[in-house]
Amino acid sequence: MTGKLPYAEVIGDPIAHSKSPVIHGFWLKKLKIKADYKMFHVKPDQLGDYIDSRRVDPDWRGCNVTIPHKLAIMDHVSDPGDIRASIGAMNTIARSENGELFGTNTDAGGFFAPIADVPLSGQEVIVIGAGGAAQAVLFALSRINVGSVTIINRNVLKASALLARFGLKGQALEHGSALPPARLLVNASALGMKGQDELIINLDSQPDDAIVYDLVYAPIKTKLLVAAKARNMETIDGLSMLIGQAAVAFEIFFGQAPPLEHDEELRKLLLA
Ligand code: NAP
Repeated sequence: MTGKLPYAEVIGDPIAHSKSPVIHGFWLKKLKIKADYKMFHVKPDQLGDYIDSRRVDPDWRGCNVTIPHKLAIMDHVSDPGDIRASIGAMNTIARSENGELFGTNTDAGGFFAPIADVPLSGQEVIVIGAGGAAQAVLFALSRINVGSVTIINRNVLKASALLARFGLKGQALEHGSALPPARLLVNASALGMKGQDELIINLDSQPDDAIVYDLVYAPIKTKLLVAAKARNMETIDGLSMLIGQAAVAFEIFFGQAPPLEHDEELRKLLLA
């Protein structure tokens, strides 16, 4: 130790929009842990130097990794959980007991946390999107033996490849195709996000007990969730996964589970 507080941080380019410091800072304060959580702007050509500097910093507990480093970071750290071969992207780096830096991915766990009690084994699921977030979603779904998975994506070939990669049975369709009735419908695409095109999905073919889960958190009340609520369907918003993935990382960095009983207060803070 150097007399400085232990700390973790989030790195990315850009980074100013990140909500991770608010989430981790909130939990550190609630638990009265004497540590910091910061943000640090790292451009793509600085990633190697960044990791080299933190490797020898005894106060550094680890970092969350956001766009555009989730793939490149895998070349700089060890991969004990075989993340490269499974989800294919890392979002959390920490130091193991032997001092080695390793990477993992907490998005799949964060996605799964709000639906952990829903019996989805053998059930039909629809996933919109085939990017990084969709990969974490499909990895989680492949672990819980869901039934058939329909992926809707602009690039249909990319979606078909993901079905094969995660050993899921199902189909890849274009936007606008007729949808099979599903127990769970997940938007893991950028559509519906502030500054992006709208997501146009017709929920008419979906049963009343379908759960509609939108990973987009800016805005929090997406048009998809508003349409699902109008049908009285159960909805899950993007803050649930954001808080869920941060919770797994927090425990890795600081060795304690975050106080999730304060989630409502944290949500208000994130929406302020
Ligand atoms: P990504 O890797 O860039 O993937 C973007 C996805 O959106 C791809 O499937 C892409 O289709 C699709 N897409 C983008 N623009 C489109 C357009 N104009 N028309 C049709 N499809 C379009 O991004 P990501 O990291 O997966 O993130 C996706 C979303 O999830 C973002 O809104 C992000 O904020 C959110 N997210 C939330 C959390 C959370 O904790 N709540 C965590 C991670 C991500 P193609 O494959 O055809 O290009």
